Amino acid sequence: MRIKGTTRTRLLAGALAACVLPWALPAQAEEVTLLVAGRIHTMDAARPRAQAMAFDSGGRILALGTRAAMQAQFPDAVLLDVGPATVVPGLIDAHGHVAGLGLNAMRVDLAGTASKEEALQRLRDFAADLPPGTWLLGRGWDQNRWAVKQFPTAGDLDAHFPDRPVWLRRVDGHAGWANSAAMARVERDLTGAWEPDGGKVERDAGGAPTGVFIDEAMSLVDVHVPELEDGVASRALALGMQAAVAHGLTGVHDAGVSLATLAHYQRLADRGEMPLRVHAMADGDGAALDRLCSDGLYQHPGGHLQMRAVKLFADGALGSRGAALLTDYSDEAGNRGLLLATNEQLDKATAKARRCGVQVATHAIGDRGNRVVLDAYARALGKDAGSDHRWRVEHAQVLAPADLPRLAQMGVIASMQPTHATSDMDWAGERLGPQRIEHAYAWRELRDSGTRLALGSDFPVESVDPRLGLYSATTRADAAGLPAGGWQPEEKLTAFEALRGFTLDAAFAGFNEDEVGSLEVGKRADFVVLAQDPLEVEPRQLRDLKVLGTYVDGDAVYIGAVD
Ligand SMILES: [Zn+2]
Repeated sequence: MRIKGTTRTRLLAGALAACVLPWALPAQAEEVTLLVAGRIHTMDAARPRAQAMAFDSGGRILALGTRAAMQAQFPDAVLLDVGPATVVPGLIDAHGHVAGLGLNAMRVDLAGTASKEEALQRLRDFAADLPPGTWLLGRGWDQNRWAVKQFPTAGDLDAHFPDRPVWLRRVDGHAGWANSAAMARVERDLTGAWEPDGGKVERDAGGAPTGVFIDEAMSLVDVHVPELEDGVASRALALGMQAAVAHGLTGVHDAGVSLATLAHYQRLADRGEMPLRVHAMADGDGAALDRLCSDGLYQHPGGHLQMRAVKLFADGALGSRGAALLTDYSDEAGNRGLLLATNEQLDKATAKARRCGVQVATHAIGDRGNRVVLDAYARALGKDAGSDHRWRVEHAQVLAPADLPRLAQMGVIASMQPTHATSDMDWAGERLGPQRIEHAYAWRELRDSGTRLALGSDFPVESVDPRLGLYSATTRADAAGLPAGGWQPEEKLTAFEALRGFTLDAAFAGFNEDEVGSLEVGKRADFVVLAQDPLEVEPRQLRDLKVLGTYVDGDAVYIGAVD
């Protein structure tokens, strides 16, 4: 169950009406709420554990302590008794893409369909909620899994969708299936034998296109898929945020936000419809960064939205051999990957950010990509490398041994995604070879060198679920627990360290540690109620933690179904 809304009273009333909760909820909002739990892990070194926490109606923490002491201090408080459950600070994903996550939820998922009929049924079900005329977009079909292993046709879709354009990507992303309404948008006459470079238009015996477009031919249709309308973009953000809070997230660092997306966020924030806090990063050296320079760092008065960082790119990704390496890929001689920015471009952007007081967060995956970024940071920061700049490297997956200590030396934060390691571990060694792999996904080495780790998922590339991140960080194993003992187990984190990466250190990486990241007097009552204690269970059980509730500013933004 998910609860949307703004006021405390409404949220609580909604929660009561909609499901039976395992704890008593107050009938109406009062001045002080007293949360009582089996245990509260605060992530505050001065008081790591408590049994009870009082917060005011504005969501500020007033006090923590034992149940008896808190009840004596706040005898009139409304009781929020979560029974034996464990409370931890709200989890923060330090690198995700909220709109991308929401858009996935707005597109039909055809993966796993066993027949064309099943795919068509899913499309009909999904389209029932779509406004007329809007494109029906989807992905995941695979005719090799269907009873009749032939490419589908536009006619299959036209029977159900005569007017609305339909455009569906194949499971591998290398083919698209269109209906006639979508093909009608293509300006070129597709009958005959013409083929685009690097692509193929499927045709019948008479030379007429059948509706399937392969590789480069997909762009014939792709270019006509409209930009997101305002309503769709806002809905994508709302859906993305909803999915995040349902997994215990109370904050997200959105890695690459345009001015248009910021405006959508601002409208949601104005209406009180941001269920969690977003640290938005401007999307490169463009209009959003210019705005930060001209108008100053952005902070919404409600405390749920800020933009004070810029996201840059140094290189590509390892899977497609786009990550920039210092020497050749071990599985492809002569290929050292791709740098996506010149030193001049990085220098210009980082100098501008430095001048404007903007935090820099740069995507770097290969050892060359990481070196290029660290060198650029060193040039931009100069003598100020020791200042409180909190510049970050996003991913920091492969580091040359000589570069590894430089992050700590320059105060650079490593923003890393534990699930990337467990997704890549089966093939990363082939790309990198036995030496370089030693310093890949090197959470332990980095942490021990004094680098602060801000953890995240890079959703929707990986799941938004931070439990999977906690699990990967502590086991370095896949869902089945393989390899036994974990992959490069010396790089594992403890559950406490992983939790810290998803709470206090992620908060620090967003300049929010005075407000959130730990449960301390004066901070925001952002917390998660878990059925199990993540610091007590076996690491392999972390992926099965049950999220009973997610609270932001003391308000329930998600209440888990009770089974
Ligand atoms: Zn990303």
